[in-house]
Amino acid sequence: MHHSYIAFAIPMFLFFMGVEYWYSKRKGKNFFQFAESVANINVGIAERLMDVFTIVPFYYFFNFIYQHYALLTIEPTWYTWVLLFLATDLVWYFYHRFAHEINILWAAHIVHHQSEDFNYTASARITVFQASVRCLFWAVLPLIGFPPIMISTFLLIHGIYPFFIHTQTIGKLGFIEKFMVTPSHHRVHHSSNPQYLDKNYGDVLIIWDKIFGTFVEEKEQPVYGLTKPINSYSFLWQHFHYVLELAVAFKKAVGFKQKWKVIFGSPNNIDPNIRTALEKVFLRNKVATQPTKAHQHYIIAQTTITLVALFWLVYNYVALQIPTISFTTVLIIISVINTGAILEQQSWIFYLESMRFFIFLYWIWYAYPTFYTAFIILLLVVTIMYYFRPMERSYKKILYH
Ligand SMILES: [Zn+2]
Ligand SMILES: [Zn+2]
Repeated sequence: MHHSYIAFAIPMFLFFMGVEYWYSKRKGKNFFQFAESVANINVGIAERLMDVFTIVPFYYFFNFIYQHYALLTIEPTWYTWVLLFLATDLVWYFYHRFAHEINILWAAHIVHHQSEDFNYTASARITVFQASVRCLFWAVLPLIGFPPIMISTFLLIHGIYPFFIHTQTIGKLGFIEKFMVTPSHHRVHHSSNPQYLDKNYGDVLIIWDKIFGTFVEEKEQPVYGLTKPINSYSFLWQHFHYVLELAVAFKKAVGFKQKWKVIFGSPNNIDPNIRTALEKVFLRNKVATQPTKAHQHYIIAQTTITLVALFWLVYNYVALQIPTISFTTVLIIISVINTGAILEQQSWIFYLESMRFFIFLYWIWYAYPTFYTAFIILLLVVTIMYYFRPMERSYKKILYH
């Protein structure tokens, strides 16, 4: 097998995002904000990219546990498939609940909840850290004795189903609401209304929330996002602000018990003022002028190219050489950081642009190491260095007023 057909999930998800966008526009609803959707998709791009590297090690990890420590021998029959479905969904429930209740796990999951829009793009908002934590929880399944090949099948379902519950276009679903997780249930989960906080953790079945007392029905209009809004589209800030908050809280905490609580205690006990103080340090380079039309076009073009590059990488991964994989990965990561920085209007944006360009040139040199390429690359580098300031000025002028 030279191609990975899982890559087609990318255009499939994009297609449904497009349909939802078209439908909500037609109904006159404002479910999509430009910057929010772009930020969501960019977080998703990084996660899919990193999945390429984590999927195989995790399969081996499951296999290793299964081969050495499996408690039971489970053969694939219809009822063991049903049992596995229930088991994966129950494990998800606890993974998700702990991800909200324990600081160190919330540091990975928080990114999923930063979006103040609730639409299909929000479902893409997962990080590789979150995906890895989830896999660690799932390790209990091969330990029980479920064969890894069976588990992988269900991981696919758990990868696809949640996408469809991130929408405001579908109302309540009658009888289905009783046992399945529906968009209505998940809207509650993504809200910061006090009565909706830390509720409806289920993935496919809502029964676990009903059994363990975390179920709430959607009654009043949800307000989406974190209780203390994120206020930033910076890719790095979104991923690491909570880790920084924990680091500060840890440093401030006195004694073992307090420090332990910072790592394994509840997110409710972390002082929100820590973030305000950190924002003053890390988000101070914003230019804050009015974005131009070109700003939007540039972001759309950049995100589209990044998505195509991601699809190409995932689809051809098996057949590609390590240098090609490395260059593409680095360029995609810089591009998602770049998009966030443009949305944020960070003053250092042109340095990042130049760095990406230089890496790209280096790749060309790597692929075609001839005298002529060296000459052209050198010429380009010298020109950019010499005209750096004027180029930076016109770049910013084109993107922002
Ligand atoms: Zn959650
Ligand atoms: Zn969600």
